[in-house]
Formats: sequence, structure tokens, C-alpha cells
Amino acid sequence: MSLTDITREGVLKAITEFQELGRDEFLRRYGFKEARTYLLVHEDAFYDSKAIAGVAHRHTAGRPLTAGEFSGGEKHAVRVLRSLGFEVRSTRTPPWDHDELVLLCAVLAGNGWQPMAPDAERVQELSEFLRRLPLHRHGHRGPDFRTPDEVARKMAELAESHLPENSDRDEQILRAFRESPTRMNSAAEALRKGVESGPLMDLAWSDEVIDAEVSAPEGRMLFRWHLVRERDPALRKKRIDQARARHGALACEVCGFDYERTYGPRGADYIECHHVVPLHVSGETTTRLNDLALLCANCHRMIHRSSPWPTPAELRELVTRRRS
Ligand SMILES: [Zn+2]
Ligand SMILES: [Zn+2]
Repeated sequence: MSLTDITREGVLKAITEFQELGRDEFLRRYGFKEARTYLLVHEDAFYDSKAIAGVAHRHTAGRPLTAGEFSGGEKHAVRVLRSLGFEVRSTRTPPWDHDELVLLCAVLAGNGWQPMAPDAERVQELSEFLRRLPLHRHGHRGPDFRTPDEVARKMAELAESHLPENSDRDEQILRAFRESPTRMNSAAEALRKGVESGPLMDLAWSDEVIDAEVSAPEGRMLFRWHLVRERDPALRKKRIDQARARHGALACEVCGFDYERTYGPRGADYIECHHVVPLHVSGETTTRLNDLALLCANCHRMIHRSSPWPTPAELRELVTRRRS
């Protein structure tokens, strides 16, 4: 007899018993502790997954398994319960994402960097908004995920910005807010608008890996939007045609590199587009042809590498100065 004997029906019976006895009595009777990491979700209620699995064994094979007889972890009880079609969520609250911190700091900044209570209207609103964002998959969200309590706690932590517990990411964003408050508040605004009007909701789940060599304090959602814009094939083609008509050839607007001249036919038509409008103002605008600069891969990467991103003209000036 082992955990793998349990059936879906046995689990459902254990859930019913849990409901009848109440959590405390259920756990006490069968000798389980409160789940630390995994909760079974059934019809919008949460159950201690290991205890449910142990008691399901009783309803399947006649005898409950005790806590010491099996592991409640991802490879054991969690896997068995999931294989029976149940949803098991991790209770670990995922670490705060960059974009979430930008939104939180904007609200905090609007309150003069004073922490707020969980029942404050702006905390409630932010909590609701954060739970809508497509940044953390539902299976990774515990029941406390971005509740007003958690949001207020994080605010208090950030308001005490000098505390050494601040992680590098927190510190990086706090610094961005100190140094360029307007820019960061606009970024939060652009994020909100992009979520409300739809486009950011669609592209944020994409699993595109953001390069470690990219620096964008405005967050990854706006950065993804930037990439989507500059890769728009129709605009790209128009921009390339325009450059050819003007200059006869296709060269990097910063350093003059011409792929075809160096690589022959293999390099023909190759060039990257860079969207020159800064992330925090690019939110609601539509891309015009003049917003796109044609760059070689090196120069494009050098622009994205550290924030604030230089304009192509600024980078060109730097390159020219270095060359002479
Ligand atoms: Zn270049
Ligand atoms: Zn770019």
C-alpha cells in the first residue's frame, strides 16, 4: 500500500471530511501539520494537500497514511494529486517582479513615500490590478498572492528604503524613482494603460527571454512592447525602402556599417530597427516611420545595454568622438 494507490474518489471523500470536521480538527485527528508549501485547490477553497493525500488513502485503502510515511513534496503527494486531475498550488508568494515594483513605487511616490494600510483605497486597487497582470502563472500563486496585506507590507518595506534587507532589484528601482521620478511615474502609467487597453496583456505571457545585457528600469512588459514594435514587419519594410530611396544603400545610422558590403549576398537586406521613443512615453502612441532608426546589431545592443538609452544621434556622437 502506498500513496500511488489513492483515487480521485478517495481524495474527494477526504475533502468532504475536511469540510465536515473543519481544518483544525481534521489536521489534529490525522496528525498532520498545516501545509507550508502546497495547497490543493478545489471549488475555490484551499486544503492542506499532504493531509488530504494521507486521508484519501484511508478512503481508498482502508487506512490513512501518517505524515511520516510519505513526502508531501512536488515529486510525491503533489504529483499524485495532480495526476488525479487536482490543482495544487504553491503557497510561496513569488518574488516581486520588476514591473510590479514599478507600479507599487508609483503609488507609494504618489503618497509621498509614506506606507499605507491594507484597507486604503489605493492599496486595494493596486492589489486587484497586480492580480490581473500576466506576470505570474496561476499555479505559482498562493492564496496570499498580492493581497492588500502583502501589498501594504511590501510598501512599508520599500518606504524604509534605507533598510539593508532591500534586494538589489528593489534598490535599483528605488534609485530610478529617486533619480527620474517623472520617467518612472510615466512608465507606471504606460504599463497601466497598456494593460487596460489590451496589448500588454497579450504579449506579457510570452516566454521570450529578456537578455541580461538589457537595462530597462521601466520593466519587462514595456520592454517587450518595444521589441514587438521595432520588429513590426510592415513598418520595417517601409523604413528600409525609405532608406534605400534616400541613400541607395542600407547602412547603420550610427556607425555606417553596411551588411551587404561586408558579407555580400548573405548580408543583403539585413539591418535592425530600433524604436527611438523612450519606453515610458511609448505606451499609447502608434509608431511612425520616423520613430524607427536603422542600426547594426552592435549599435542596437549598445543602446539597450544601459539605461537611460542614448538616442542614435547621441551614440553616433560618442562613436565619432572615440574615433577621432
Ligand atoms: Zn552600427
Ligand atoms: Zn531597440
